[in-house]
Amino acid sequence: MDQVREKPWLAHYDPGVPPEIQVPDIPLWRFLEESARRFPQNVALEFLGKTLSYQELWGLARRFAQGLKDLGVRPGDRVAIMLPNSPQFVIAFYGTLLAGGVGVNVNPLYTPRELRHQLADAGAETLVILDHLLPRYLEVEKEVPVKRVVVTGIKDFLPFPKNLLYPLKAKRDGLPLGFPKREGFHAFAELLKRPPAEPHVPDPEDLALLQYTGGTTGLSKGAMLTHRNLVANVLQIDAWDPTSKDLVGKGVMLGALPFFHVYGMTVAMNYGLFSGYKIVLLPRPEIKAIVEAIEKHQVTHFPGVPTLYVAFNNFPGIERRDLKSVRACISGSAPLPLEVAERFERLTGAKLVEGYGLTEASPVTHCNPLYGERRLGSVGLPFPGVDAKVVDEEGKELPPGEVGELAVKGPNVMKGYWNRPEETQKTLKDGWLFTGDLAKMDEDGYFYIVDRKKDMIIAGGYNIYPREVEEVLYQHEAVQEAAVVGVPDPYRGETVAAFLVLKPEYQGKVSEKDIERFCRQNLAAYKVPRIIQFRESLPKSSVGKILRRELREEFAKKQG
Ligand code: AMP
Repeated sequence: MDQVREKPWLAHYDPGVPPEIQVPDIPLWRFLEESARRFPQNVALEFLGKTLSYQELWGLARRFAQGLKDLGVRPGDRVAIMLPNSPQFVIAFYGTLLAGGVGVNVNPLYTPRELRHQLADAGAETLVILDHLLPRYLEVEKEVPVKRVVVTGIKDFLPFPKNLLYPLKAKRDGLPLGFPKREGFHAFAELLKRPPAEPHVPDPEDLALLQYTGGTTGLSKGAMLTHRNLVANVLQIDAWDPTSKDLVGKGVMLGALPFFHVYGMTVAMNYGLFSGYKIVLLPRPEIKAIVEAIEKHQVTHFPGVPTLYVAFNNFPGIERRDLKSVRACISGSAPLPLEVAERFERLTGAKLVEGYGLTEASPVTHCNPLYGERRLGSVGLPFPGVDAKVVDEEGKELPPGEVGELAVKGPNVMKGYWNRPEETQKTLKDGWLFTGDLAKMDEDGYFYIVDRKKDMIIAGGYNIYPREVEEVLYQHEAVQEAAVVGVPDPYRGETVAAFLVLKPEYQGKVSEKDIERFCRQNLAAYKVPRIIQFRESLPKSSVGKILRRELREEFAKKQG
């Protein structure tokens, strides 16, 4: 058993924030039901000028649930959802839960290979998909357990303008729009004509979501998130903001991050619906659309990622735009460089608060206080109900200031990985989730993510944290985006490589040598990148995380 451990962070919570939270035994969908009861006429979703009220959304989700039941979906069945942010996404996910099913989020950008792995691994017999994405499914349909496909069209239900969609492959591949009229294929709109289902009431420990993640090892595996996990994280966000009650039924959430990633799903979708907010859906996180939506809808809540804040900083005329309605811009999912955060606040006058989380924790575990002291460069304090510690290789807790692996515990921590007991055993020990992130805690209980364990570079025996080098690169006036990785080196084992995107006005005016000189002035010699390459863009994940692994692989390929 753990001894009672000191939790220095509690002293730094905003007044009114509880140290613990009570998680009621309710299904996740109870939040939507409750908002529909309290605010039936309020707008729940706004999508490209069209709206759905809470009452309508609740009704449609129940109809969809009945549709799924009629097709044979039973409690515990996995329903894969491959849709961009749209009303259909929300209806499909909540409809799945109301039928007792388990949602499986599928990235609409997946290639057939990735899609095959995920559908097979999850054992998904039902797939809800946008018609334009069908060609990718049809390539693998014979190799996956899917028995029924529910298709929603771009013109279905609400219009999707073509230019806002994910890459339109259908036309190019010579496939007609709409969907093949054959057995097992069903129209989304048809399911919405069923009578509203009687909701299935699950056990709180039943799965609600299989969220696929690379985790600490490369193989994509499903984190099993229960109703209790997802309910807990929503309530933790609510508890973290001591003034959240003022905006219930009035706030406006910008749903720009994809809901098929658990950050967008919990923080924008589930928390937004719980709070009775209007959720403004953007099918793609594009900076121009984001800035315009914030002004037009007077957005109060904006969850974002560092690359989006970089995009804000480089958006022409951003200092003259009005972002005042936003109570807090949140950054999570990847390190927020100090330079980016400071510049954003200077340019926009908006408040930017950094937090931290991971899929396996539904996802948020840490955040800076909303009103109290935010420490730049820190991911903040453990959330109400979250315990956190930094441990050495043997799992022994380290004192403040020392770097080790971050472990967290709380009601939002997953049940385990789907069908992978060994991976689960390596990651979950005595209820502690080992995050694979290197971190330290200061005396006051603020945490700092130093790097991913596996991203650490060991060059000539020295440990180098890519993140530290990136922080320096971002301080150079010409640098728009930077990523640092370790690449193989015959002498040093590994060496430091930096990939940079320059700001347009500096292109051709700054050389690799200039950057190297700047690094020499700011970093110990062993940390200075030996390889510096300018690029037009950096590879990014669906939520906008820079993919260091891809850079490493590309570089290795080029070197032969
Ligand atoms: P995912 O499971 O895709 O959400 O990825 C989780 C990982 O993102 C964490 O384990 C961290 O490595 C990284 N991450 C999330 N938030 C932050 C942050 N604020 N600073 C640094 N890394 C972060």
